[in-house]
Amino acid sequence: MILKKATAVLLVVLLAIALVATIVLFRTISFQYEMPDVESVHFEDIPLDDAVARLSDAIRFQTVSTLDNRERYLPEFDAFMDFVRESYPLIHENLNLKIVNGYTLLYKWEGSRPGLPAAMMQGHYDVVPVEPGTHDDWTHPPFKGVVSDGFVWGRGAIDDKSGIFSYLEAVNYLLERGFEPERTVYLALNHDEEVGGRQGARKVADYLLEKDIEIAFLVDEGMPVAEKIMEGLEHPIAMIGVAEKGYLSIELEVTKEGGHSSMPPRETTIGALSEAITNLKKQPMQGRIPGLLRDTFEPLMPDLPFRYRMALSNLWLFGGAIEERLGYIPHTNAALRTTIAPTIFHAGIKENVLPQTATATINFRIHPNNNIREVLYYVQNTIDNELIDVRVLNGAREPSPVTTTSSEAYQLMKHTIHEVFPEIPVAPAMFLAATDARHFTEVSDYLLRFRPIRARPDDRGRIHGTDERISVENYGEMISFHIRFIENTTSGLSATGSPAAQTAMP
Ligand SMILES: [Zn+2]
Repeated sequence: MILKKATAVLLVVLLAIALVATIVLFRTISFQYEMPDVESVHFEDIPLDDAVARLSDAIRFQTVSTLDNRERYLPEFDAFMDFVRESYPLIHENLNLKIVNGYTLLYKWEGSRPGLPAAMMQGHYDVVPVEPGTHDDWTHPPFKGVVSDGFVWGRGAIDDKSGIFSYLEAVNYLLERGFEPERTVYLALNHDEEVGGRQGARKVADYLLEKDIEIAFLVDEGMPVAEKIMEGLEHPIAMIGVAEKGYLSIELEVTKEGGHSSMPPRETTIGALSEAITNLKKQPMQGRIPGLLRDTFEPLMPDLPFRYRMALSNLWLFGGAIEERLGYIPHTNAALRTTIAPTIFHAGIKENVLPQTATATINFRIHPNNNIREVLYYVQNTIDNELIDVRVLNGAREPSPVTTTSSEAYQLMKHTIHEVFPEIPVAPAMFLAATDARHFTEVSDYLLRFRPIRARPDDRGRIHGTDERISVENYGEMISFHIRFIENTTSGLSATGSPAAQTAMP
C-alpha cells in the first residue's frame, strides 16, 4: 500500500519535471529572431583617401579638454575651427554656422519643408589627454594622425573625431551631388564633452529651447557595432544606446567621541562606516533582466550557446539564476542595476588615536529603473544607523528617459544600420558612460546614441587609452552610414522605406 503511494508520488513528480522540461525546451526552440529583409546600400564613390587625410589632419590638433589649465590648449581649439572651415568650403557655402559660446560649432542645413521638426546630429571634437608617462607606449604618436597598416592612429580616432568628421564627409558628399534635405538638419560639433559638456552641448540645448526650435530626434556618440561581446558569441551586434544612467555621489559621515585606542568602545567611527559600506555591498540594489537588458539580448539569441538561449527564453524559471550570474561580471552588472562604488574614505590621523570623524564618498550610477529618491531611501534603510549622516554631493542627475524602440527615429536608425551593415542584428542597449546627449532630454524625447564603429574586445582599452585607432575601411562605413542616415531621415522616407512625407516624425 505504502509502496503504491510512493510510486504514485514519484510518478507525479516525474510528470511535473517532464512537463517543465518540455515547456523550457519548447520555448527555447521556438524562439526566433528574424533579420528584416532590407536591401543593402553601397556608396562606391566616396573619396575615402581624401576623407582619411582630413581625419588624420584633424587628429593633429591637440584639442585636449582638462578641468584645469584650459587656456594652454585654447589656441589648438581656434586652429581646429579654422581647419574645419578651410577643409569643407562647400559646407560653409551652403550651411549656416553659428559659434556657440566661443568654441562649439552649430551648423544648420535648412530643409525645404521648414514645418518638419529638425533632425540633430552631434558629437565632440575635444579629446581626453594622454596619460603622462604613456606617450612612448603608443605604436604611433598620439597627435600625429599616422595612417598605417590600414588604420588611422591617434587620440580622437574613435572618440569622437571620426564621428564628427564622418558627419562632415557625409554632408559634403550629399552637397556635391545636389542633395537638398526636406527636413532641416542641425550638426553640432561640441567642444567640452570630456569635461561634462556644460559650456558646449548645454549651451546648444539652451539656445534651441530659447528659440523654440523643434527637434524630432538627436543622434550622438554612444554604442558601437560590437564584436564578441560575450563568450561563445561570434556574431557582431549593432547596439543603439537608448538610455543613459543617472549619477549620484553621497558622503557618509560619522562623528563620535574620540579617545585613546587602548580602550576602544564597542562602536568606533571607522567601524560604523565600514559596516555601512559592507551592508551596501552585501545587499546591492535589485537588478532586473526583463525590459531593456532582455531586449539587448534578443537579437543575439540564435547565436548564443544553448544554455544561455534556454535561460533567456525561460526567465520565469531561470531569471534569478541568470541575474546572479550577470551580477558577477562588471559590465553586465552595470547594465543590470544601479551600481555602488565607494570611492573616497577619510578617517584618522595617528595610529593610537580613535578618530572623532570618519567620512566616505560613495558613487552611484543609477539605472533607469530607479531614481535618486529611491537610491537615498535604499541607502538609509540598508545602513540603518542613526550615527551616520548622509549628504548628497553636487552633480547628481536622474537617469535619462528611455527612447522607445517603437519610435520612428529608432526604427529609421535600425533600418539604416541594416542597409549599410547587412547581416548584423540591431538591439537597443543602455549606454554605461555619459554623453552630451544628457543635456537634451528637454529638447527631444528621442535620443539615439550610436556610432557605426566596429569595436572588438581589445578596443575597449583604446578609448581614452593607448593606441586609439580606427580602421580606414570602417571609417568608410561610418561615412556611408551617415550619408544614408541623412537621406533616410530628411527625404521624407519612413523607416520601412515607404514614403511618409506627410507625417511629422517621430
Ligand atoms: Zn566621446
